[in-house]
Amino acid sequence: MIFSLVLAAQSWTLVVGGDIMLNGVKPGVKVFTGISSWTKAADIATANLEIPLTNARASTPNKSAAEVKAKSQFILKADPGHARAIGAAGLDLVGLGNNHAMDYRFAGLNQMTGLLDGQGIQWCGAGKDLAEAARTQVVTAQKSMKVAFVSFLAFKTSGGLGKCTPATEVSPGVATLPFNGKLLASQRKRLKAIVAQARSTADFVVVWLHWGTERKTVPDPWQVTLGRGFIEAGADCVLGAHPHVLQGAELYAGKPIFYSLGNLVSPIGSSTGIFRLTFNGRKLSKAEMLPCVISGGTVKAGALAARAKSVAAFESLCRKATTKYRHPKSIPLDISEPNGAR
Ligand SMILES: [Zn+2]
Repeated sequence: MIFSLVLAAQSWTLVVGGDIMLNGVKPGVKVFTGISSWTKAADIATANLEIPLTNARASTPNKSAAEVKAKSQFILKADPGHARAIGAAGLDLVGLGNNHAMDYRFAGLNQMTGLLDGQGIQWCGAGKDLAEAARTQVVTAQKSMKVAFVSFLAFKTSGGLGKCTPATEVSPGVATLPFNGKLLASQRKRLKAIVAQARSTADFVVVWLHWGTERKTVPDPWQVTLGRGFIEAGADCVLGAHPHVLQGAELYAGKPIFYSLGNLVSPIGSSTGIFRLTFNGRKLSKAEMLPCVISGGTVKAGALAARAKSVAAFESLCRKATTKYRHPKSIPLDISEPNGAR
């Protein structure tokens, strides 16, 4: 008699949110209380921390006074006290591979990562050198599901990347993908190496990418090429940030790609959303959206009556993205609204 042992795939949840922008927000403000029922209950919750939490004074020399004056570049920082709120909200890992992590040089980054460490929040995407910036961080869900995260700034041009202080083997900065908008064989090899390294320590690989055009609700071709490239290289999930508005999401070869998660919170009011992804092992079984409202430097769940409309608007963005970038393996992500969830 032959016995076959079928192990039930483990069910676990990943809650994802976009850019955390806290410039000008006072540290006592309850920034995340309105969504913490989701972030705390998740096996893993993650977002992009787009601003150094520091009181360092010397700003980056790579963004000139003229550029800042012309508002073509921004130099940002926020009160270090916000680290506690991020920890209290139950965020497990933040991506730092973005265009602001080095706004107050290594002193600002180092103060922030120390604060994150103190709160038990993992981070990746920036560091004291390239090895630290590009490292894999592993978060465990349900005691045994090991989920690896990497985070990269993926602006299209090397000039754009240079403004944000790329890390080198001997100097601090952010982890970058300096591909100039191309994905040639050598660059695909690098994606494979990144994913293989992450996979060597984990069951599931999440890639945070900072890319795209601000305020644009449909992804740029470069985002699609690179996002799908990471899935082809073996990643399980791609999370995008930087445009500060939501862009559509898709399932590519069965794996979710969120091209832009918009803002998670910002000093400027707007509507946004956070997403709860339920996986059985490596397979996505459900994607839910909690529509949210950003106001006064806080984020909270949107009014029940308005949520169905917000979910439908996001689904329309998903269809727009997949219609524009048709591919046999891509389909709009099927998003549901959790009934009555706060
Ligand atoms: Zn950004």
